[in-house]
Amino acid sequence: MPSPSVSLPATTGRIHSIETCGTVDGPGIRFIVFTQGCPLRCLYCHNPDCQDIHGGTVTTVDEIMAQIAQTKTYLRNGGVTVSGGEPLMQPEFVAEIFRRCHQMGLHTALDTSGYVALEAAKPVLINTDLVLLDIKSYSSDLFHQVTRVSIEPTLKFARYLAEINQPTWIRFVLVPGLTDPAENVAGLAEFVGSLGNVERVEILPFHKLGEYKWEQLGLPYALAKTQPPSPELVEQVVQIFRQQSLTVV
Ligand code: SF4
Repeated sequence: MPSPSVSLPATTGRIHSIETCGTVDGPGIRFIVFTQGCPLRCLYCHNPDCQDIHGGTVTTVDEIMAQIAQTKTYLRNGGVTVSGGEPLMQPEFVAEIFRRCHQMGLHTALDTSGYVALEAAKPVLINTDLVLLDIKSYSSDLFHQVTRVSIEPTLKFARYLAEINQPTWIRFVLVPGLTDPAENVAGLAEFVGSLGNVERVEILPFHKLGEYKWEQLGLPYALAKTQPPSPELVEQVVQIFRQQSLTVV
């Protein structure tokens, strides 16, 4: 279980990058903060340069809020998303960003793997309007194969979100030959369908846009020969989730 990074003051954090007009990480146009550091090692990670908690740039909440203030007009129907990396490795930093976003009347979304210490995550959720929860697989063996960590913290986090009725979108990366076994998909769909707080499910087709980053880092890319899923496979998976009365996009 990862322990939150506590080496920096709460008003300071490590970020990888910022995107000022994101359109795929939450509703509307979004200011996106990509935090640095992730305890997972997903085989398909398209930002492996986000993984090292000692990398990135040290930034203050004040600096981030100043940039958000400059783009606030565009964010009226969107908001601010904190993604990663794993944002909940720096929970106090993210909690402070979201607290100040709410002071500005901005919608907040947290993009997380859920592989977190739950008690550290709870204060962040106080000012989180939407959680984008990536569940990498449902089979525990497969989850470990994909991420190198255990599935249990993520399931516990998902159940807690259901308990507090937190609006949540679930994301699932569909990788042919890896995450696509029918029992894995059906198990995940059944679990997600049982939660009761999930507004939508996003099936994200595997792609290799980040492959060059693995090469730049000198890391072997295990999925070099894997191709994106066919439209037929994506549709099959969508239908499995829809059978659980879930909204799927
Ligand atoms: S959780 Fe995200 S950032 Fe972390 S290794 Fe997996 S894909 Fe990469």
